[in-house]
Amino acid sequence: MNRNKVPIILRAHHLLCFLGFRGLGYSKEFVENFKSIYKRVYLGNSYIKVVSFPDKICRCCPNLTAAGCRFEDKVKMYDEKVIELLKVYGLSDLEDVLPSEAYSALKKALPQQLESICRTCEWFALGFCRESFYRKDLWKNG
Ligand code: SF4
Ligand code: SF4
Repeated sequence: MNRNKVPIILRAHHLLCFLGFRGLGYSKEFVENFKSIYKRVYLGNSYIKVVSFPDKICRCCPNLTAAGCRFEDKVKMYDEKVIELLKVYGLSDLEDVLPSEAYSALKKALPQQLESICRTCEWFALGFCRESFYRKDLWKNG
């Protein structure tokens, strides 16, 4: 780590979830918490540590149990695929990352590659996330 400030722990696939965020979520508490992290990470470009386990967003999610996320197998696969893309497109160190660096890497991926990662997510059918994968010109960071 190159600074004193501790990076925000973030599940890799949540980088994609920020792109299609339209204020919806699992519960009021979840949305409030998501918004605050969205502001710091996606809008504010605060340093993150990219992981594949429950993070600060999961902390307020009704799907988080003592044993982890109810959908852990599925979402861990999303995380791993996003991490693979980050690495393929130039990010080797995931410990202390500027979101703008992560999004610069993800911008190099085809929209179809992003789409194929999370099309089994319950939110995918709403279309916001898919649309954001094709509108990279609108991404705040990167
Ligand atoms: S489809 Fe689900 S996992 Fe994928 S970006 Fe949207 S909310 Fe996140
Ligand atoms: S569904 Fe799982 S991965 Fe998604 S925010 Fe909730 S606990 Fe986290």
